[in-house]
Amino acid sequence: MRSCLVAFGMLLLNAFALGAQSRAAAAESNRYWISADRRDTVRYRDPAEADVLGALAQRVDDARLVDSVLAHASEKVGLEGLSVVFRPCGTANAFYYSRTDRIVLCAELLRDFARLMHAEGNSDALGVSLDALRFTAAHEIGHAVIARYQLPITGDEEIAADEFAAWLLDQSGEKAELINTDVLFIAQALHEDVTYSQAVEAHGLAGQRQARLHCWVVVMPDYQSEDAERLGKCMASTARAQRTWATLLAPHRPLRAAAQ
Ligand SMILES: [Zn+2]
Repeated sequence: MRSCLVAFGMLLLNAFALGAQSRAAAAESNRYWISADRRDTVRYRDPAEADVLGALAQRVDDARLVDSVLAHASEKVGLEGLSVVFRPCGTANAFYYSRTDRIVLCAELLRDFARLMHAEGNSDALGVSLDALRFTAAHEIGHAVIARYQLPITGDEEIAADEFAAWLLDQSGEKAELINTDVLFIAQALHEDVTYSQAVEAHGLAGQRQARLHCWVVVMPDYQSEDAERLGKCMASTARAQRTWATLLAPHRPLRAAAQ
């Protein structure tokens, strides 16, 4: 496992080091990256970039990330027929398409996560990034449950989707996804250019998302909080979120999950 991560780190480093060289090569050869389901094709002018995305796709496959996300969602909230794919999109993002009931996780998003954590000197840059991608997938599943079950949410759907993601992942055993997504959001917030377009972007600033998500980390039993007032507010808000999502989803949850 460790050697794979080191190898990935080297691949990233090589990709950066070879940037100028590969830009020259790109003038001569284009690279096509074809997704596993062969429905989508993205052309990359930079062969090194295509190699990085291909390596990430392999790591996502190895981690069985898509399968585990789907299995967890199915167990907790149903959603039969939902599909999730990981593929290059030409942009660092993730999407839920209600018409086709399909979630797309863009390889470029995981690439940007991994590059940021690598630049931050994180010793488990890819592991943190894969956990943050699981949170992203859970966020998109939030959009799916809101659309599929016509849930009567109030306020901004992006905030509700983030809260749903935290609620869903909070029910997993080690909660590493929440902790590592918190770590990634902190890094994003520290490096974020607060431009007008960033400030009005639908998901909000990374710092705002991190502040909301951080409550789910603060209330974990092992977390050493020195701010009693913050801890109290986080305990109240996460408990309320637990009750709200459990109530909203109760008519739709598989019987086994609803009994838990
Ligand atoms: Zn969203």
